[in-house]
Amino acid sequence: MAAAKGGAKKPAAKSGPAKSTKKTRKLHTLYTLSGDKVQRKNRSCPKCGQGYFLGVHANRLVCGKCAYVEYVTKK
Ligand SMILES: [Zn+2]
Repeated sequence: MAAAKGGAKKPAAKSGPAKSTKKTRKLHTLYTLSGDKVQRKNRSCPKCGQGYFLGVHANRLVCGKCAYVEYVTKK
């Protein structure tokens, strides 16, 4: 007897694989390649060091790791 006890039936499967709603980080937009060298567009975090970049927002730069914030004032 290998029959499963009770158990609600699974809802009918939709056709095709479920689409992921997760947004990609689009890291390719954060640097440019010039020859053999990489030019990064965003500044790195002064606290965390290289490899941790500041996210660019409307009026500020924010580190996602340590929450360092640097406000940018428009001229
Ligand atoms: Zn940081």
